[in-house]
Amino acid sequence: MNSWSRYQKSKKLSKCENERIFAICLGEQPLGKKISVAGWIVDFSDIGKIGFVKVRDVTGTVQGVVTGDVLARTREIPRQSSVLIKGIVSKTKAKDLPVEIAVDDVIVNGKAVHPLPIDPTGRIESSMDKRLDCRALDLRNEHVLTIFKIRSEAVNVIRNVLRSKMFIEVNTPKIIGSATEGGANLFELDYFKRKAYLAQSPQLYKEELTLGLERVFEVGPYFRAEPSHTVRHLSEFISIDLEAAYLDYNEIMDIVDELIMSTIESLRTLFPVNIKSTNHYYGNSIESGIPRLSYEECLNELNRSGEHLEFGDDLSDAALRTLGTIHNGFYFIKDWPTKLKPFYIQEHEGRKDLSKSFDLQFGYLELISGGTREHDPNNLRNKLIEQGLSTESFSHHLRAFDWGMPPHSGCGIGFDRLMMVLTSSDNIREVVLFPRDSDRLTP
Ligand code: ATP
Repeated sequence: MNSWSRYQKSKKLSKCENERIFAICLGEQPLGKKISVAGWIVDFSDIGKIGFVKVRDVTGTVQGVVTGDVLARTREIPRQSSVLIKGIVSKTKAKDLPVEIAVDDVIVNGKAVHPLPIDPTGRIESSMDKRLDCRALDLRNEHVLTIFKIRSEAVNVIRNVLRSKMFIEVNTPKIIGSATEGGANLFELDYFKRKAYLAQSPQLYKEELTLGLERVFEVGPYFRAEPSHTVRHLSEFISIDLEAAYLDYNEIMDIVDELIMSTIESLRTLFPVNIKSTNHYYGNSIESGIPRLSYEECLNELNRSGEHLEFGDDLSDAALRTLGTIHNGFYFIKDWPTKLKPFYIQEHEGRKDLSKSFDLQFGYLELISGGTREHDPNNLRNKLIEQGLSTESFSHHLRAFDWGMPPHSGCGIGFDRLMMVLTSSDNIREVVLFPRDSDRLTP
């Protein structure tokens, strides 16, 4: 069974509405049954008195055999047009298909007007920009379509794991009145003559929610005015944020490890052709879990590899690339210098220069950032002042810490970056339907 079939069978999809059969279910229909298949024409071969038309839908491809006046009409239909073919399930000589359809009618639902801007079959390659300019059509490319099926499945697995652990799904506002972590990278907008911003993260809200809901998660878009044009940054990205009362950052790393493993295992069963084996993602730490290196260990490793880094230095792209060659697969970097992390991260008792923080890396790519949060209101106020932020602009948030705030920890999972890794895509734009960056605002 191929990955398409596995995917569809997992949905227990055996027959469909209004006698319309999805391509994947055609093999289960009895010979001689009258059926309809809706899809788009990908190929047509005309050998005189008989023609073979290949029609694809979101689940697979069917072959229709056309003769007589239906053949004459099919000749006139441009490829990629949306059609409904009606006919009888029949035996086929085609090796890769279980049956074919002896077509007695073909109806054009939507004509494709040629020349099309890109060739979705992939026979003629187009640049990414061109493909993104007509993404709707690009989705008819099987590889592209599969990426978005994988994405949908992955978010589902993550949701299910979190819900099974008593996390409650929430939605926090995306239009906010003050910056979450200071002003950098914020999109500003006019909100009824007041200044407002697009949310960079749900950080403050999700922390406050642990007060009543204990464990929360949110799948949502966040916005950063990223001027740099890289393969891993967008101005709008999807983050899966979680926050949990009474857990510390080690327990959040346990949850992340489980989420990643469950996602890979589930995707691999459904998409064995597209998703690499767990070995690829975990190296030799499948049994022991994702390795947890401290920032200081990483610094030592890097200095042994010829870098000249001192405690407190941030790890540059180049440094992370070097680390990525030493550690294949996922790895955590934990206990970052306090000064490199935001004000809401707790310090280690007895080592105030170290924070209870972690990042999840895959090679050079940072996927997740998390930590134990500071929940003592006085410490939080001091941290804000130390980082040059105004306690006044965080007063709404700080109030909640005087209402009996539980200790809590959490993380933000860069879902698009996780999808890059899981689908082996080297540009974040491949895994986002309509990416937004400093150049791209349409479609
Ligand atoms: P980076 O240093 O790579 O710019 P960051 O430290 O600003 O990331 P965080 O604020 O910690 O990122 O956000 C948590 C996660 O959200 C990141 O690990 C990443 O996966 C994702 N993320 C952050 N900014 C972007 C962006 N502009 N585009 C896509 N994903 C992002």
